[in-house]
Amino acid sequence: MISAVMPTYARVDLAFERGEGCFLFGTDGRRYLDFTSGIGVTALGHCHPHLVKALQEQAGKLWHCSNLFRIPTGETLAERLVKNSFADTVFFTNSGVEALECTIKILRKHHDDSGHPERYRVITCDGAFHGRSLATLAAGGNEKYLKGYDPVVDGFDQVPFGNLNEMRAAIRPETAAILVEPIQGEGGVRAGTVEYLRALRQICDEFGLLLAFDEVQSGMGRTGKLFAHEWAGIAPDVMALAKGLGSGFPVGACLASERAAKGMTAGTHGTTFGGNPLAMAAANAVLDVMLAPGFLDGVDKRGRMFQKRLAGIAKRFPAAIAELRGQGLMQGLKCAAPNGEMVDALRAQGLLTVAAADNVVRVYPPLIASEAELEQGAAIIERVAGRLAQAAAPRAVRPAGASAKAK
Ligand SMILES: *Cc1c(COP(=O)(O)O)cnc(C)c1O
Repeated sequence: MISAVMPTYARVDLAFERGEGCFLFGTDGRRYLDFTSGIGVTALGHCHPHLVKALQEQAGKLWHCSNLFRIPTGETLAERLVKNSFADTVFFTNSGVEALECTIKILRKHHDDSGHPERYRVITCDGAFHGRSLATLAAGGNEKYLKGYDPVVDGFDQVPFGNLNEMRAAIRPETAAILVEPIQGEGGVRAGTVEYLRALRQICDEFGLLLAFDEVQSGMGRTGKLFAHEWAGIAPDVMALAKGLGSGFPVGACLASERAAKGMTAGTHGTTFGGNPLAMAAANAVLDVMLAPGFLDGVDKRGRMFQKRLAGIAKRFPAAIAELRGQGLMQGLKCAAPNGEMVDALRAQGLLTVAAADNVVRVYPPLIASEAELEQGAAIIERVAGRLAQAAAPRAVRPAGASAKAK
């Protein structure tokens, strides 16, 4: 018999009754260090006092009034995002996928309005993830997720991530834009180099294409800057945000330059719930914290420290961790054994992490994690990596005496 909750997830048999900062308290009576952050969502940890207060206050005032009317807190939030990014204008959504749908619509409409309706195709990358709508599944091109949902939405061309020759070769007269995650999350914490991101900007300028970044996962402070692309010192024309933007309250945003979005006039796009007062209160409260002087510098500093610590563990136990990837508090452990074994073993030790493609385990601490809390997580990873490396040892053919090095 089918379960009442549609069984589209292979869930872990574990539930939580409350969260506080970096910790989740399970109904099993155990306390877990949450380095999933709800897949990069609870950027400020669980029940951050400033967020709780903002949402409670708003809950007693006004939940919803629709976009028929002005929403002053949404205007404030949009102005703050504009002030702190390349963008001139913002459309609010309830999720990442809606932010991507808006992005793709802007990419197409820009060229249509410029007298080039034939330029509708968007180049995306292998390993990308842009959401689960029909269009964003086509954009991501993941066969596993597309299966059973034919026909595939037309208008997307995939090239290998990080390969500029293939990117250039894929451009045709119908190409409207390039859409890329500066750091692929679901794809296995694969980061585009700053040279790659800069070259994408150059290619777009050279061919008259728009550049769109999907920062739904890499944005909102995770890498130690508000947006991951800032490390490359370039700007996209359009950008999708969600996940960390509400730190657990569902809210997304599509940010665009005036040039890219000049055709997005009244009636061209819409949403019932997007930008509602509750979501705006949550996201404004998140920005209060993230834009406070020193916050992002602190994430950068602790991120570097954490990365160094994980790099040390990976170096010591290559039989468990084949490679360390990522930036700041967006770290990925490419496993030697199946990544599910690592996730399970870490959870058994009280540390929650998320699997990703390419046999990677994502380690996404809340951005508020202290040095001590990061060390607590690192120590569990070290212990588990040591055990997994030991378990792998008999399988490996190694010269006599090589194991003497392992402590
Ligand atoms: C999670 C994610 C999405 C989809 O967001 P939803 O809120 O699940 O719709 C899109 N792009 C990236 C990069 C993501 O990580």
